[in-house]
Amino acid sequence: MDIIHDIPTLRPHIKKARQAGRTIGLVPTMGFLHEGHLSLLRRARAENDLTILSIFVNPLQFGASEDYEKYPRDLDSDAKMAASAGCDLIFAPPVREMYPTKSYTTFVDVKRLTTGLCGASRPDHFRGVTTVVAKLFNIVTPNRSYFGQKDAQQVQVLIRMVNDLNMDLEIIVLPIVREADGLAMSSRNTYLSPGERQAAPILYRSLQAAEEKIKNGERDAVKIRELIFNILSSEPLADIDYIAVVDAEELCDVQEIRNRTLIALAVRFGKTRLIDNLMVEA
Ligand code: AMP
Repeated sequence: MDIIHDIPTLRPHIKKARQAGRTIGLVPTMGFLHEGHLSLLRRARAENDLTILSIFVNPLQFGASEDYEKYPRDLDSDAKMAASAGCDLIFAPPVREMYPTKSYTTFVDVKRLTTGLCGASRPDHFRGVTTVVAKLFNIVTPNRSYFGQKDAQQVQVLIRMVNDLNMDLEIIVLPIVREADGLAMSSRNTYLSPGERQAAPILYRSLQAAEEKIKNGERDAVKIRELIFNILSSEPLADIDYIAVVDAEELCDVQEIRNRTLIALAVRFGKTRLIDNLMVEA
């Protein structure tokens, strides 16, 4: 497995694959891999001739007071895990390779879908995500790129970007991979204190309770939000950022749960902000 840090070295690998008619699958990540990332890699491996993992902690998607500096990084361990999942090549550029000068001026900005949910408390986050992912798509020219439903808003924003800008690739979305107690896997889970870690599965439990209620016929979004709010509020360590019941594609609030509805939440445990979600097909 090759590990490449710069674009000029990567380009001949891409060109060679393209000339041989090989398909390319890209899995964009910020590294510190876990089973969630590996599920994307395995799927990319199964569906493409060349599987590329990108590892880049993208400063553009972190707010000034967020965890860019302390975000966990471990390229050696990532490389071992990626190789075991069938990855052919890791592209791990330094910041100067992606944003070479202080005068960097080009951004991709998806409107409307990025203002609510996580966008409300992280105003420039999605502009950072769409900009870096658009750059990665231009650098790697994948046939398919793989993303986790864990970041449900990100997925919708990226699908919209690809459609709006006529990008010639397929976005594949894979289910949330969870720990045994239901906590969605995340590189940020390592920030949790033992007490916070023990409390964190309440996110998934609140979503499961909502799912059960909807299965039993509840369609009122306000009642579902209330149910989740009451469960999360019973945990003293949980500080709710948002609970949203939205249309799965437009990400706008709905009153009634019907068709495809996304129930998404963000909750702080100390300084750590965790997200989770549930897709409902009512
Ligand atoms: P990140 O490194 O956190 O930026 O995540 C890279 C990719 O892995 C994104 O598409 C995430 O949605 C996906 N991902 C992260 N955690 C999970 C998980 N628990 N299950 C499935 N996919 C995940």
